Amino acid sequence: MADSALPPTLPVSRADALHRRGLMLILSSPSGAGKTTIAKRLLAHDSQIEASVSATTRPIRPGEVDGKDYHFVNRATFDAMVEANEFYEWAEVFGNCYGTPKAHIRARLKEGGDTLFDIDWQGTQQLYQKAEADVVRVFILPPSIEELRRRLTGRGTDSAEVIAARMARAQAEISHWDGYDYVVVNDDIDACYTQICQILAAERLKRARQTGLIGFVRELTRH
Ligand code: 5GP
Repeated sequence: MADSALPPTLPVSRADALHRRGLMLILSSPSGAGKTTIAKRLLAHDSQIEASVSATTRPIRPGEVDGKDYHFVNRATFDAMVEANEFYEWAEVFGNCYGTPKAHIRARLKEGGDTLFDIDWQGTQQLYQKAEADVVRVFILPPSIEELRRRLTGRGTDSAEVIAARMARAQAEISHWDGYDYVVVNDDIDACYTQICQILAAERLKRARQTGLIGFVRELTRH
């Protein structure tokens, strides 16, 4: 299906007029399972969700935009943010620090905006510990080991060792599938995207998130 032909994520309903709390949608998968494609589609087609922007101490790369790809900060600023408890989670990766700042996401949760996270199982665990009620965890699985290998083989230019290492990494990530609320098998990218939209739609309708219901129901039961 062409992207432009996709239906909007949510049918417009009465519930859309009521205020709701936002949510934090986590997508995890081994590389090669289609997570990046799904994330890009969601961000392009659903105006209620935006990507989390991490802070990092690593130097900006050509083509990257400060504030869009990352918030690029120096080490002293990063350390001060850690000290002030301004991150949901942070980690050092290849000598650089990366963290998920809380402030913007918290403001969005209050306003009813959703935030998308493309993170691994460790990051998922940390976010869940800090914000359990706001987090929705989705894991995307490849349809078969053969298909995973085919997707990780790339253009056929990588050595057998490189491919074996990618397969081992993917299988290690898959072993954490049971730490997620939803698991979607991606044997068809359009079907997988639709299922994730359905998960998002249902989670947005959860009573606890529909904070506007209190006043609405009070009005309905006034007499
Ligand atoms: P890169 O520098 O290539 O953009 O990212 C390097 C690594 O840092 C990737 O594995 C990426 O997943 C990880 N990373 C990016 N942002 C964050 C973050 O906010 N927290 C954690 N823990 N890791 C991150």
